[in-house]
Amino acid sequence: MSKQAPVIVITGTPGTGKTTHAQLLVEESPVPLKHINVGDLVKEKELYEAYDEDWQSYTVDEDKLLDELEPTASEGGIVLDWHTSDIFPERWVDLVVVLRCDHTRLWERLEKRGYPLKKIQENNEAEIMEVVLDEARSSYASEIVVELKSESTEDLESNVARIVQWIETWRKDHGTTEQ
Ligand code: ADP
Repeated sequence: MSKQAPVIVITGTPGTGKTTHAQLLVEESPVPLKHINVGDLVKEKELYEAYDEDWQSYTVDEDKLLDELEPTASEGGIVLDWHTSDIFPERWVDLVVVLRCDHTRLWERLEKRGYPLKKIQENNEAEIMEVVLDEARSSYASEIVVELKSESTEDLESNVARIVQWIETWRKDHGTTEQ
């Protein structure tokens, strides 16, 4: 059966606003979407190989993670919220949104989150070097990768409105709108 709703990846350096965007998108989407916070899923289902105390992060077991997500991804109707995107197979994904944020603002957001200094520095540098954007661009067709600024509430609202528009077009193209 063909998908009734798309698979949308929302990616970006930690703190750029992925979860905030995903939550608002689920509320405003014209088709039912389920928000999957991949980091939380990894913890809940223990889809990791190890925990690195120093970096306070998990080394993900990618095979286990993909097996866990495969059935839902094939059905469609999900928003995958994660700071990396290249692990998801191209055939799953309809749209990749890469959120960007000014690095000083990002620093403040990560400080508020209580991240250790070296984790703040690492993420800050990654944002400046466009690591997540490069990764998305080298993993997916350029037509499906969209870079969006996430610095203010206005940005958040207009980004979500844009994605909702995109979903409307996706539905028409896939013949899933009611006549
Ligand atoms: P991520 O999921 O990418 O780690 P979050 O969605 O948790 O990021 O957002 C991190 C913090 O930044 C939160 O406090 C959130 O309210 C704030 N934030 C995110 N995006 C925006 C935005 N566009 N405008 C204002 N604040 C934002």
